[in-house]
Parts: sequence; structure tokens; C-alpha cells
Amino acid sequence: MNMLRKLLTALAAPVKLLLEFPCPGCGANTAENDNRLCPDCRGLLHFVPDDACGMCGGVNDGVLNCCSECLATGKRPWDAAFSVFLYDSAVRGLILKFKYGGRPELAGLFAGFAAAKLARTAADFDCIVPIPVNFLRRLRRGYNQCELLGAELSALTGRPCVTALTRPRGGHQSRRNRAERLAAMKNAFRLRAGTIAPGAAVLLIDDVFTTGATLTAAATELRRANPASITVLTLARRI
Ligand SMILES: [Zn+2]
Ligand SMILES: [Zn+2]
Repeated sequence: MNMLRKLLTALAAPVKLLLEFPCPGCGANTAENDNRLCPDCRGLLHFVPDDACGMCGGVNDGVLNCCSECLATGKRPWDAAFSVFLYDSAVRGLILKFKYGGRPELAGLFAGFAAAKLARTAADFDCIVPIPVNFLRRLRRGYNQCELLGAELSALTGRPCVTALTRPRGGHQSRRNRAERLAAMKNAFRLRAGTIAPGAAVLLIDDVFTTGATLTAAATELRRANPASITVLTLARRI
């Protein structure tokens, strides 16, 4: 019996090694769990509650259907919006690794959380459209994180991921205020003819919802395809 136990333990050791993955949050070796985050890092993530603002997907700080920021912004060119995480330091670290840290495999982790969020909502969609990055940024980074997220989400939901938008030009967005962003974003996207069937329900995806300027420009361009609806899904909503 003792021998058998020893033998089984010896056999189990390499199998256990194969099943262990470094946690993308802290690098610690962890048995495979839900999304390969160790329990400590998983515990640091803060999710947007399900009774969120319907226009940006963030926390609703008011008594209406939308938050005070959306109330001030006015009508958005989409029908509904959802966001998975509150954009705090824990998820910010993971998203930065995903976007700039050469960690494309994090698409799988994020897609798992995004699919779980979608499953809890009434969101119905026929196709997934990722926000494109311009050619030079893509070249420098080696990948577009939104396209990878879209591909993983497509595998989980069974809906196709469509490169319906291109980005012929575009400057660096992160240090501009909302008015400057909106001006710079005008005509930033081009709809690729024939990629979206008229009457289709579109899920437009991006990593972080900040002011919504990028998504506004993209959704406005997508409207030219006459979709039945546009739903926005972002990984995190900046607080
Ligand atoms: Zn960890
Ligand atoms: Zn809002």
C-alpha cells in the first residue's frame, strides 16, 4: 500500500507541474483555476455591479437609468453598454500587461470574464467587432489586444469576430481631454463595406471605457451599416 502510494505520488508530480500555471497577476505558481489567476489576485479584482449605468456600463451613481457622467454627456450612439471591472490598480496592471507588456495570452483570461458578464445580461448579438488600432501601433505592439479579445470571445460565444472597422490614421489619445479627443476622433474609423449585414446586432468591444470618445466615433461609423443594435462591452470602466 505504501509502495502504491509512493508510486502514485511519483507519477502525480509531473502531472501536477503540467497543470500549474504562473498567475498573470503576481507570477506565483498556481493550480489551474477559473481564469488562471491565483485566489489572492482574483480577490483583488472589483467587478461592476449588475445594476450599472446602461449607457457606459459603469457604476450608476444616480437614481435614473444612467450615471451622472452619461446624463451630462447626452445620447450615446449605441443601445446598451456593459463593463466587466472597475478600473482600479489591480485590473489596470493586468490590462497594461495585456496591451503593452507583450502578454497576448491574457486575452483568454479577459474573454472568460467578459463572456460571464454577457451571460448575466440580456445582451444579444450576431457578431463581435473589435476597436482597431492603427497600422503603426499594431506593428510596434505586434498585436491588437481588442482583436485577440474578440477572437477568444468568439470561441466562447459562437458568434463571429468581424474586422468591420479600420483605422486609417490616429494620434495618441491618452493625454487629451474629452473635447480634444472628440475632435481628433472624428473620421478616425472607416467601415469596411459588406462586413456587417444590415439588421445585425453588433457587439462592439474595447478594453477601457474612459470618456467614451473612441467608442462614440467607432459606433457612429458602424451605424452606416444599418445594424439593428449596437451593444458596447468594455473590460473596465474608468472610475
Ligand atoms: Zn496572483
Ligand atoms: Zn454612465
